[in-house]
Amino acid sequence: MANETGMLADRIAIITGAASGIGAGIMQKFLDEGARVLGVDLPSERWSNDDRPNDGLVRFAIDVTLDEAPQEIVKAAIHAFGSIDILVNNAGISPPGGAADTSDELWRKVMALNVDAVFRLTREAVPYLKKSDNARIINTGSIMSELAGPGIIAYVTSKHAVAGMTKAMAVDLGPFGIRANFVQPGAIVTPLSEAHMADEQFVEYWNRKIPLGRLGKPADIAPVVAFLASPMADYVSGEGLRIDGGATCNM
Ligand code: NAD
Repeated sequence: MANETGMLADRIAIITGAASGIGAGIMQKFLDEGARVLGVDLPSERWSNDDRPNDGLVRFAIDVTLDEAPQEIVKAAIHAFGSIDILVNNAGISPPGGAADTSDELWRKVMALNVDAVFRLTREAVPYLKKSDNARIINTGSIMSELAGPGIIAYVTSKHAVAGMTKAMAVDLGPFGIRANFVQPGAIVTPLSEAHMADEQFVEYWNRKIPLGRLGKPADIAPVVAFLASPMADYVSGEGLRIDGGATCNM
């Protein structure tokens, strides 16, 4: 890529939800910037376990909500690269369900991935992050980490939890030199938002609300995550960074 600077040269990163959308964008940017990456996603035709790094990437296929997932993921990263500097907890889902009709099952499914898996994988990675000179945790929140949208109560709750959890991580792990931040994407065109993007009113609403005049794309999020992971963001911790084209400051 023309604008690569090697700002993550030789850093070792774990990125969850790396097969698609925002996670795939982050993974590509990290590789372009010189990081070596364990990319984690659900097992599928496009995502299976690699035996060895390929251009700095090792794909690891697992459901991050499984009990054993944190241990397996950290073990795979250490096996592939020997250390961990950066953990990007990005995998998430946003199934429809409002305050009056969300089932227990849906609620638990969203919390298991968007909240529990973030906490559990981070806890498992902490002993290795403590050994890094430049440790970073970056969680994918949302503009729904501070606002609510209609018909996605479990998602809104989970992303508010990501905000609180990241701040608690920053406080608890700062003394070990570990910085923890979260990004807050706005309306980004990915497979996760595909159903909404098919709704003309939804797209029209956002196009009117976004001062920069367009919906976002994974490539709008990835460089900001790379910045937070880089030495340039050395004194940034406990922060949530909105990346929404200005939408949420526009009444
Ligand atoms: P996406 O659906 O394109 O990608 C999510 C990835 O996570 C997929 O590859 C999926 O297979 C993987 N995944 C899902 N469940 C998993 C599991 N149990 N174990 C392992 N991997 C799993 O979605 P996206 O839009 O790129 O979303 C990524 C993150 O960004 C999510 O946390 C989402 O909440 C957040 N986000 C998205 C938007 C948006 O508009 N797209 C806005 C704000 C925040």
